[in-house]
Amino acid sequence: MHMCPSFEALCCLRDDGSYIFLGFSLSAVLKKKRFNAVDVGHILIFVHKMTRMSPNTQTAAKTPRDQIIQSSCPACGAMVGGETIEVHDHEYGLSHIAKYLECGVCSTLFQEPMPTLAELSAFYPSDYHSMTHAGLLNKIRNDVRIRRLSKLVIDEGVILDYGCGDGAFMVQAAQRLPQRHFWGFEIADRTETTILAEGKVTLVKGSLRDLLAILPSCGLITLNHVIEHLPDPLSVVTALADRLLPGGIFEGQTPASDSLERSVFGRKWSGYHAPRHTVIFSRAGLCCMLERSGLSMPSVLGAFNPAALAVSLGSVPRNGVGRIRRSGLKWFVLVALAGGLAPIDLWSRRPGIINFIAFKLPS
Ligand SMILES: [Zn+2]
Repeated sequence: MHMCPSFEALCCLRDDGSYIFLGFSLSAVLKKKRFNAVDVGHILIFVHKMTRMSPNTQTAAKTPRDQIIQSSCPACGAMVGGETIEVHDHEYGLSHIAKYLECGVCSTLFQEPMPTLAELSAFYPSDYHSMTHAGLLNKIRNDVRIRRLSKLVIDEGVILDYGCGDGAFMVQAAQRLPQRHFWGFEIADRTETTILAEGKVTLVKGSLRDLLAILPSCGLITLNHVIEHLPDPLSVVTALADRLLPGGIFEGQTPASDSLERSVFGRKWSGYHAPRHTVIFSRAGLCCMLERSGLSMPSVLGAFNPAALAVSLGSVPRNGVGRIRRSGLKWFVLVALAGGLAPIDLWSRRPGIINFIAFKLPS
């Protein structure tokens, strides 16, 4: 009998060294009471990975430790070993080559070694695309995001946009949702608090500790293409989840490592965004990490984001380091082409970009 440490599934070891799924553990049954599509996905991924683990690969894991890189998966907590995947910067032309490990249990990718905060800050050029909010595409994307949030907000607590950049999105959202108070956070060396939109928006720059010192209770916390930039997402999400009111919502958007787009584009997949993306979650890995952070009922859904697919398409002709400018005719053609291909991405059931949501239940 074997117990999967992450998903609490009971498995039996067969003579040929593979595993067969038996059922959920009693604690999992008592805790969850009923199972949804995400749980079934967990099991399918787990069984798939276990059945691929032949006796030979299990023996290989016992080779001397100094020959194998081993690290704990930031999503599911499983020990991960093996060769790293080296990925160049196809978007901003940095010479740094990021190295990723892929979790054998949940398929989440993460950098090994994980860059320090100081190293990460050097990976963002001054013209980094999410630091500017000009352009029609950004405006449309903000409108879509506001519509999504307006369906989610609960009556109590503030709305926190973690990783809000210059706060432009929140100012736009405050105009559309005037009855709500917005807080935004962006990591910075110096602590600074700014009031925007006639008091409707509070923008905090500094460390997570600076934010938590003054942040009121939240009804909704959103992370739009942020969670994949964090070197330790579990600790950040745990701290933020603690600030959610009972019934509060935690949501966001991020690339998915188990996507069709990654299978097609390989190391040129835009979801790597190397070396700036630190942890690229699979759908099951993200749900597992959200539950480990104290949140409940996590789920994911494919998202429409042609800019991500446009970067993948723009990376195809490049070998090694490159630069893709998000403006001009070439960028427009790439986005138009990506928009035309987007239905294939969504219908594949393995979307390149996912929206995620989880809830803080009353204790
Ligand atoms: Zn994992």
